[in-house]
Amino acid sequence: MAELIPLLRAIVGDAHVLARGQAPATDLAPFETDWRKRYKGIASAVVRPGATKEVAEVVRACAAAGVAIVPQGGNTGLVGGATPDPSGTQVVLSLTRLNRIRAVDADNLTLTAEAGCVLQQVQQAADGAGLLFPLSLAAEGSCTIGGNLATNAGGTQVLRYGNARDLCLGLEVVTAAGEVWSGLSGLRKDNTGYDLRQLFIGSEGTLGIITAATLKLFAKPAARLTAWVAVNGVADAVRLLGLAQRRLGAELTGFELMNAEALALVGRHHPQLAVPLAGSSRHAVLLESSDAESEAHARQRLEGLLADAIGAGCAQDAVVAESLSQAATLWQIRESIPLAQAAEGLNIKHDIALPASAIAAFCDEAAALLAHTVPGARLVNFGHLGDGNLHFNVQAPAGTDAATFLRQHEAAVNHAVYEAVARHGGAFSAEHGVGQLKTQELARYEPPVALAMMRAVKAALDPHNLLNPGRVLGPAPKIGPT
Ligand code: FAD
Ligand code: ZN
Repeated sequence: MAELIPLLRAIVGDAHVLARGQAPATDLAPFETDWRKRYKGIASAVVRPGATKEVAEVVRACAAAGVAIVPQGGNTGLVGGATPDPSGTQVVLSLTRLNRIRAVDADNLTLTAEAGCVLQQVQQAADGAGLLFPLSLAAEGSCTIGGNLATNAGGTQVLRYGNARDLCLGLEVVTAAGEVWSGLSGLRKDNTGYDLRQLFIGSEGTLGIITAATLKLFAKPAARLTAWVAVNGVADAVRLLGLAQRRLGAELTGFELMNAEALALVGRHHPQLAVPLAGSSRHAVLLESSDAESEAHARQRLEGLLADAIGAGCAQDAVVAESLSQAATLWQIRESIPLAQAAEGLNIKHDIALPASAIAAFCDEAAALLAHTVPGARLVNFGHLGDGNLHFNVQAPAGTDAATFLRQHEAAVNHAVYEAVARHGGAFSAEHGVGQLKTQELARYEPPVALAMMRAVKAALDPHNLLNPGRVLGPAPKIGPT
């Protein structure tokens, strides 16, 4: 390692290699801890290249020294994938200096951005060209497009526009051997062999370093409306979803569920946000529609849907935001839930996906199991119901110590929840990935044939296990010099 650091300095410049006890004096802690402060590692150095060529040289230098690399973007991931291990040997490769929008091709409806561009910056660049980049999540002010692609991020617009995977047409990647694959195609049809881009998307930094991406843009809707709907339970919310899909079709762009516990936490930690229709139901749905025609048309269709939903008994009450600022406040309530949960203390998170037809039965079964396993624990259930994706989180009973609760009950709670997810045909990770948090679940719930194929892909693309070792597939053979 002592020999590697001067080499890294020579590649990216002294100012961009941060190492403990060396100039420039920097606190490495923000790079060594995850957003939830659940994992704490020790990096041998943090390297911040400013160009793809530098990334490739850094990877080659690390490979020659047999030093593992942990890619990091905005460090907002929720499964510990960007945190180095505690060995003090791993290099954190921070991509945030690769932050240029390389091109906007309005005729082709594409934008090419470097991996370290913050998601909001990409949205703004699209907006500046009169177009829409629809990926949207609460961390958009700090997560990067490279991290979004590496985790195949979801968010609140998946229902209409798909996951990060569906929004990417081309990638530039630095391989584990330090070669640059320039696959920045803006083509919508391209059947020239295996689709390598899709291998890297969602691979959480274990197969290659994403340095740039060509992304799909869309026409901006003429109007966007947001409604807050009080519903009596998950089953009614699923019925409302079906009705909204049939009535609004592609106009339905968001469908978020929140239970009463989730809204109570927002009330406690963000009291400035007034939750509408409070007290009138056990759950709320945030529904967004987008219209290509006009606001009047959108309002007529949305209000018609909501009146029928109330008539059919799957909604209790509803309000439609009258202004953009009211709509923004409704979204802020939804997006404050993870922050309110974090303020309340560590909790046991489950980012799960289920078929829509199984969601209500799953929720009933899991709630009953948890009432038995951890009496008094608070079930904070919210998420992107339109995609069958719930954040089914378990918070310590009010007034008890969260860390102790986690220590004592995390394994049993995870077992109860994930077994129920499997019984209902679901997935233990929907949009956050596997990282280091869920490697055991991957080993338990993925079929052996699938695991063998994943290991074969990893071995082919990263034979020396240099890139984010131990993440996704779990511990693997020790790395050695290449
Ligand atoms: P990081 O956290 O830095 O890294 C994530 C993973 O990707 C790590 O394994 C890392 O090694 C790898 N990686 C990062 N950059 C690269 C690269 N250039 N090349 C290769 N590998 C790389 N996620 C959702 O999907 N939907 C949500 O709605 C959502 N909401 C969130 C709300 C909050 C408040 C927070 C804190 C997080 C939320 N997340 C959500 C999780 C997180 O924001 C996403 O996973 C995001 O995509 C991570 O991007 P990042 O740049 O922060 O990546
Ligand atoms: Zn989410």
